[in-house]
Amino acid sequence: MPAPRRYATDAIVLSRFDYGEADRILTLLTPASGKIKAIAKGIRRQTSRIGGSLEPFAELRLSLAHGRTFDVVTQVEVIHPWLRLRDDLVSFGTASYMAEMADKTQEERHAAESVYVLLKRGYEILDAGMAPGRVARWFEMHLADELGIRPEVDRCVECGRLLGADERYRWVPPLGGVLCERCPGPPHGVAALSLEALKLLKAYRRMDVEALAALRVRPDVEAEVEAAMRAFLAYMLDRSPRSLAFLDEVRAADRARSEVLT
Ligand SMILES: [Zn+2]
Repeated sequence: MPAPRRYATDAIVLSRFDYGEADRILTLLTPASGKIKAIAKGIRRQTSRIGGSLEPFAELRLSLAHGRTFDVVTQVEVIHPWLRLRDDLVSFGTASYMAEMADKTQEERHAAESVYVLLKRGYEILDAGMAPGRVARWFEMHLADELGIRPEVDRCVECGRLLGADERYRWVPPLGGVLCERCPGPPHGVAALSLEALKLLKAYRRMDVEALAALRVRPDVEAEVEAAMRAFLAYMLDRSPRSLAFLDEVRAADRARSEVLT
């Protein structure tokens, strides 16, 4: 029996680009089929019925028809528009970053139920106003878990000893996490890590979203953890997401503006 020509799925648009005169190619994340490419025909015409509803960073219910190269979007229903996360450039940039991370780490047509749930939850809490940096770190830590590259933050990556509260730590992405003060490190890819940053990394591993949102942390410690996770993921995934450049730019502009105001 041939596969049914039409099917319906929940989906989040990860990225899109214009194609031909009026079409658009979408990269979608779906729970059961993982990442898929689909085409929305005629979507850039003003008369298109589905035009405005195929925005990125929204949860949609789609009807699709199997196609030769791309599946074809036939119907769209918006389940969660998550409109607020678009109001602010840093929050928007963070949503783009999370979409890019999901896009780059998922293979086409491989079920991605847990990554789908993770991305959906990430957009929910971003939309609800949680600090974008906290959402991004929470997402990175859990995505690393899903990818089987969870960073080691409890034991030394070399000798396996439980890390004490009163020693010097080093963050070594090529070794997969934290190195204790007794072990010799590799010549490259080593950065000092403060106790506060180590505690925050552990918090991202263990705490739920509500507890993380309520944490009070110094900005320099947040910056340290951000740099640590960025270096870790860049090493593990062998890539630096393009969306980070945009995010860095809008945050620098934010900082410059607040310095003028104070
Ligand atoms: Zn050690």
